[in-house]
Amino acid sequence: MIDPFGRHITYLRVSLTDRCDFRCVYCMAEQPEFLPKTEILTLEETARVCAAFMRKGVERIRITGGEPLVRRGAIRLIERLGGWIGAGGLKELTLTTNGSQLVRFAKPLYAAGVRRINVSLDTRDPDKFRAITRWGEVGKVLAGIDAALEAGLKIKINTVALKDVNDGEFADLIGWAHGHGMDLTLIETMPMGGIDDDRLAQFLPLSMVRAKLAQRFTFEDTAYRTGGPARYVRVAETGGRLGFITPLTHNFCESCNRVRLTCTGTLFMCLGQEDAADLRSPLRTSADDRMLDEAIDAAIARKPKGHDFMIDRRHSAPAVARAMSMTGG
Ligand code: SAM
Ligand code: SF4
Repeated sequence: MIDPFGRHITYLRVSLTDRCDFRCVYCMAEQPEFLPKTEILTLEETARVCAAFMRKGVERIRITGGEPLVRRGAIRLIERLGGWIGAGGLKELTLTTNGSQLVRFAKPLYAAGVRRINVSLDTRDPDKFRAITRWGEVGKVLAGIDAALEAGLKIKINTVALKDVNDGEFADLIGWAHGHGMDLTLIETMPMGGIDDDRLAQFLPLSMVRAKLAQRFTFEDTAYRTGGPARYVRVAETGGRLGFITPLTHNFCESCNRVRLTCTGTLFMCLGQEDAADLRSPLRTSADDRMLDEAIDAAIARKPKGHDFMIDRRHSAPAVARAMSMTGG
């Protein structure tokens, strides 16, 4: 699949649910309205969409959410997709999780063929963690991370940079993550979805964070790229990799290789644009995949050039109304 700007689409992100056992302040309201079950793709339907994308050249799939591991049966879908790794045409199956269920699922994930996961963790301080997630327990997540490392999974920690919340902790998080052989990526808050807190108050530009960290660490340039928005450096003192995702201060769209499927079967061609394609109707209208294939082709043909994220005092409303928990980040 090649889009109008010559980009090869080889990467599909699949959100399994809009639900989550946490309520991170930058992601969800405290009492979000979750979707009725009938609107959510069955895992069978999700597998059908994944298969269609793979026939069209998708080589990597990332499972996300909401919290993907709270979806009942998620591990069975992951096992099924894992069966397509190698001869089945899939090069890699990965997962983004908040880590709360990893004690239980680390070994089954590895057994299913998953080798790398992203775990979101903004702080190791129990009180701050509870303040950010509204009721999460950091101890459970840290135990999950240990279980995942023990199971043989490679981990990247994703940390959202929040002004006056975790900004004093980045050096400590880098030391901890790299000390355990994990990469760490810092993420700027993106203006997505209706949340209860003030978006502008949370926003911390990573250019400032980076400048401050550079006084303490030596950053070496690396050519490492994932096709995504992150830019990486190697930290000389730790030997570990540190990523920066700065959608608001940098443009990363020219190398975008991905599209995103929500749990309702809506395909977003860009995280920062409203345009989307409904794949659920063709899925449910016909048991053969012709209509589904056509809908996918039409969607790729109108993948936009880039996003229009912006946070400033005149633009404090979300740039896109849906939350990250819908498209999975
Ligand atoms: N629940 C899983 C998790 O937290 O890893 C997977 C879904 S979550 C939506 C994916 C990533 O998006 C997490 O790393 C989270 O921190 C990030 N995220 C959510 N809302 C965001 C926002 N408004 N700006 C930046 N990152 C956000
Ligand atoms: Fe849940 Fe992940 Fe959103 Fe936090 S960021 S509320 S863990 S979906």
